[in-house]
Amino acid sequence: MAEIRVEHVAKTFGHFTAVKGVDFTVEQGSFFVILGPSGCGKTTTLRMMAGLELPTSGRILLDGEDVTALPASARDIAFVFQLFALYPHMNVRQNIGFPLKCQNYPRAEIKQSVEETAKLLRIDHLLDRRVGGLSGGDRQRVALGRAIVRRPKAFLMDEPLGALDSEFRRLMCGELRELHDRIDATTVYITHDQLEAMAMADRIVIMNQGCVEQIGTPQEIYDRPNTMFVADFIGAPPMSFLKVQAALQRGDRSIRIDGAAIEMPEVFVDRAEGEFALGVRPENVSFADASQLRGRVIGAEYLGTTQIVTVTTANGQVKARLPSGKAVRVGEQVGLALRPDRLSLFDASSGQALS
Ligand code: ATP
Repeated sequence: MAEIRVEHVAKTFGHFTAVKGVDFTVEQGSFFVILGPSGCGKTTTLRMMAGLELPTSGRILLDGEDVTALPASARDIAFVFQLFALYPHMNVRQNIGFPLKCQNYPRAEIKQSVEETAKLLRIDHLLDRRVGGLSGGDRQRVALGRAIVRRPKAFLMDEPLGALDSEFRRLMCGELRELHDRIDATTVYITHDQLEAMAMADRIVIMNQGCVEQIGTPQEIYDRPNTMFVADFIGAPPMSFLKVQAALQRGDRSIRIDGAAIEMPEVFVDRAEGEFALGVRPENVSFADASQLRGRVIGAEYLGTTQIVTVTTANGQVKARLPSGKAVRVGEQVGLALRPDRLSLFDASSGQALS
């Protein structure tokens, strides 16, 4: 187990800066997810943590020791980029033991470590089988075994389940998280799938265009997004934004929308006026006769126990998550109530949350 500190790290390729002063700490024993859209700098950041890429500036610390200039081989970190790249001509035992054999471990020690690892992954009954004949799940477990057999200080995983179909991927996510807990590892895991990140992470860093947008637990990020980018990236469907023109005094707690006043739970604003975006998640919108906001239903998406209803208003489109039993007609005029204690307010030009 190790703590990894990424300190103001930047990386420039020619004239292009892929990572712009990223700063975060991966706590010892935690499952830490780097989340963000394609090209935001996740892989470059992870490769610098692994020692596969040298930062242009900044430092990487492993348990407080500056390892920035150390090569990958000297860092005692396992980098896993694809969990199913096995050696087909070897059996399970040889596949798992391969990293130890490469480092010339004594035979007896390899045997013991491989058997312990296989037990941990519940594949000890498969040790003498060829990997070619194994099920997809067992192949993944063998690949995981190969990554954990030498008990590195940390695992860095770059979309390890990326090529799997979605159902199998969910299953493996659960297993991976469970394994992490059992072996008390420190894991850094890259994904661009927000649902996967929310399900697996202790903490998430969200990156965008080479910068950190927010770091926090899944719940902090979901409930209190720092920026409109985060609010839009997290949640399925994401947060809706309503344009509100406000003339708020310092200490004012109400926002006027469509003629009605919404009392905000906290004093968000220290700026007199401007254009704001009021953010609301679908589960915090309901239909109400005595409503704060009026609009017209333009679509409904059935999801089993709930439905997502899209309503267009003078202030923008809002999505509401309603019980699927609720009768909704496209084209009908409805009143909407927004849960005031669950609203976010953003500066519409900078996208920053006002809090
Ligand atoms: P993805 O999810 O698509 O893998 P990512 O968030 O992991 O994306 P990176 O692979 O870190 O993003 O790439 C960030 C940016 O840096 C991209 O625009 C990429 O083209 C660029 N980049 C990465 N490696 C190099 C390189 N060796 N030379 C030049 N540009 C690079």
